Amino acid sequence: MLTVGGYARVSDIGQMGDGRDGREGVMRQREDVHALAKVKRCDVHRVYEDNDTSAYRRRVKRRDFEAMMIDLASGVINGILASNIDRLFRQPRDLERCIDIYEQARRPMIFATTAGDFDLTSPEGRFQARIHVTIANKFSADAARRVARQKRAEAVQGMPHKGQRAFGWKDAEHVDDREAELLRIARKDILQGKKVATVHEEWTKLRVRSPQTPPGKTIGYSSVRYVLRNPRLCGYRAYIPQEVRERSGRVDPVEWLVERTDGTPVMGQWEKIFTPDEWRELIDVLDARKNTGKGRKIGSTVIKRLLTGIARCAKCGNGLSSGMYTRGTTSYEKYGYYYYCRRADGGCGSLSRSGPPVEDHVEKILLGNLKKRARQVKPTAEEDPELTKAKADLKQIEADKAEARQLRADDKLSLAEFAREISRLERKERETGEKVSALSAAPVRAGSAAARIIREWGRYTVDVKREEIVKSIEAVVIKPAGKGGAQNGEFRADLVEIVWK
Ligand SMILES: [Zn+2]
Repeated sequence: MLTVGGYARVSDIGQMGDGRDGREGVMRQREDVHALAKVKRCDVHRVYEDNDTSAYRRRVKRRDFEAMMIDLASGVINGILASNIDRLFRQPRDLERCIDIYEQARRPMIFATTAGDFDLTSPEGRFQARIHVTIANKFSADAARRVARQKRAEAVQGMPHKGQRAFGWKDAEHVDDREAELLRIARKDILQGKKVATVHEEWTKLRVRSPQTPPGKTIGYSSVRYVLRNPRLCGYRAYIPQEVRERSGRVDPVEWLVERTDGTPVMGQWEKIFTPDEWRELIDVLDARKNTGKGRKIGSTVIKRLLTGIARCAKCGNGLSSGMYTRGTTSYEKYGYYYYCRRADGGCGSLSRSGPPVEDHVEKILLGNLKKRARQVKPTAEEDPELTKAKADLKQIEADKAEARQLRADDKLSLAEFAREISRLERKERETGEKVSALSAAPVRAGSAAARIIREWGRYTVDVKREEIVKSIEAVVIKPAGKGGAQNGEFRADLVEIVWK
């Protein structure tokens, strides 16, 4: 009596509507195997079973199938029984691997299915098997095409993707308030010059996770980039064909937007976080940085201080670098770091100056300058964009409340849901209302960019401040203190010259 292995498999094709598969299918396949074993007088060593996988999709590894190949090669089993040959091999190369084993085996072997036996040790049997597998392969390709067509049709209708939720949403349709807020803040910061790496650092501190983040970890840098670029944010529906995804792993969905025949993007049926313009603006900024190579420098340990490269040595004109004072010294306690003309960068190497006092001086002068500019703006100047947005938000909240009431009236919201929604909206309304009155009453009425910069300066990161500085300042030239004018004394403004643009 030969000891053989049985094989059963559920493919995901069944989920797409032809109803052949599922748990039920596996039970039937198992029964077939045992019935066959009785007829063939074989002893079933075990039934190898792969669930929910498709032998047609190349990237999917079938664990039990692989185990069965090993057992077959090593003589643990002397044959395979299966309900149908297409359960086993949908790729011709899987069959060829199996044929190799049968050819090399110096022992009696069997290969049987309910549809007939294949003598894989004879050319005739191999020919039959190859024909069957080739046909099965064709059917699978057709099924995959059918699935692809269906998925594409769903995309064109703007239906949400199935499966895991996207970062920013609780499910396929509803926004997750906290994640959406993180995205909105990140967008604003990035437009003002913040790097994605900095956003990633901040999110790491907040222990932010994406639906794909492994347990115990926080979101990775590339995921931050990915969730910020997601077209879904503004309602655009992307569709990446399966074969493209399998070929290249993570694909940029920005390049795979589904369009209507008139070339406009299909809008998805879910709550949006950005408007299309807001999203596009962010993508443009991110793409522009990618092209200038200005993103994250991997492995870079150089700290960019506020005036690195902007401050220059008066003697040789070289852009200054920064360094840390030696721990424990008075200078270290008092200032921490200094700027200096670095020989390794081609400078003269004979100038250095404590960092913070120079920075304070430059910031004070720059802000003073901006204030002057803000005052020159006519009072009829356009409204602060933040105020405009807050006002629009208020209107939106009003509309949302009306909608919630209507939904309640139509009995589409339970009382509990309605109460939660209304109290959430009222809280938002209160906050936004406060923001509107604060912004309207701001001492600097002019909504010019200058006024905004002054107001927000304290919250800017070094990156953002640098961007603002280089908009108006060409260079900050640091002059040597001269003989005897030891730099351990007071800060001397006369040794700093600001060159405006
Ligand atoms: Zn120098």
